[in-house]
Amino acid sequence: MADEFVEIAAGLAAVAKGFYARGWLLGTSGNLSAVVQREPLRLAMSPSGVDKGELKPEQLLSIDENAQIVSAHGGRPSDESLLHIRIVKDRGAGAVLHTHSVWNTVLSDRYASEGGVTIKGYEMLKGLQGVRTHEHTEFLPIIENSQDMPALAELVGATLSKHPAAHGFLLRRHGLYSWGQSLAEAKRHIEILEFLLETMGRRSD
Ligand SMILES: [Zn+2]
Repeated sequence: MADEFVEIAAGLAAVAKGFYARGWLLGTSGNLSAVVQREPLRLAMSPSGVDKGELKPEQLLSIDENAQIVSAHGGRPSDESLLHIRIVKDRGAGAVLHTHSVWNTVLSDRYASEGGVTIKGYEMLKGLQGVRTHEHTEFLPIIENSQDMPALAELVGATLSKHPAAHGFLLRRHGLYSWGQSLAEAKRHIEILEFLLETMGRRSD
């Protein structure tokens, strides 16, 4: 498991650097995780309060299904670890990524009264797993933000079961969550959804 953790941690650090450069993880915001082992569950999780542009593989923490650190070194896992764990369990995800971009923040507020953002008719939708045509309609649910993480994790679970086809969700005035079977797939989903949200946000009609 040790070698696997090192490899996964390096992958997460590389993704963090790329997303930071795009302005999606500014000011230590956002967080990243990937499954190292399922039974018992072990996640490589980004630490709280660390500059994601400078994140080093050795700073990634190993946590269990209760968001408790099981690795020997110090640091505090992200406050949002419980949301990652919920997504891993409910969606069978291998990696979960969370960004705080300007456009996902703007749209998470603009479409809140509709309960989510409906995205349809764009070629880039085909980058989402299982989507074969631009005629696909993707609905990204919007969940009211909260600092009560156990309660928010419950709400995330309920929202995911209500929208089984969703590839991500937005926390209102906060950010985007997406995931994938692998880290590469989760990264692709974030790139696709950020692209589509920015496109929708920039439309003038
Ligand atoms: Zn966040």
